[in-house]
Amino acid sequence: MTSAPSTDCLFCKIVAGDVPADVVASTDRVIAFRDIDPKAPVHVLVAPREHHGDVATLAAADPALLAEVVQLADRVAGDLADGQFRFVFNSGPRAGQSVFHVHGHVLAGAQLGWTPA
Ligand code: C5P
Repeated sequence: MTSAPSTDCLFCKIVAGDVPADVVASTDRVIAFRDIDPKAPVHVLVAPREHHGDVATLAAADPALLAEVVQLADRVAGDLADGQFRFVFNSGPRAGQSVFHVHGHVLAGAQLGWTPA
């Protein structure tokens, strides 16, 4: 998938500031904002500013950028919780992906269960 901004991509619009989001951390290349439908006390989405469709595509195109995504997730978990976190990438509709601009879900702030299905 392309890394060009997509005019119909919701998260490209959040990156551009055209759609509001509760941004909790950012770097030159990565943004972190609270999920509007939280599934844990801390539920933050971490996404590269560049458009990549899913995590495998990002890993192939720019592994250093994927590492930056993980590093910002770790920082968010330390700032907003106790530093322990789950980091989930849904990849494909059957896995639950609904926004096709890669993002990891930081879930933290509670003892987490393990019931993905
Ligand atoms: O992994 P998936 O693609 O389903 O994750 C998309 C996430 O984006 C959802 O958890 C949804 O609640 C969140 N979302 C958001 N802000 C929006 C639209 C969706 O935080 N404006």
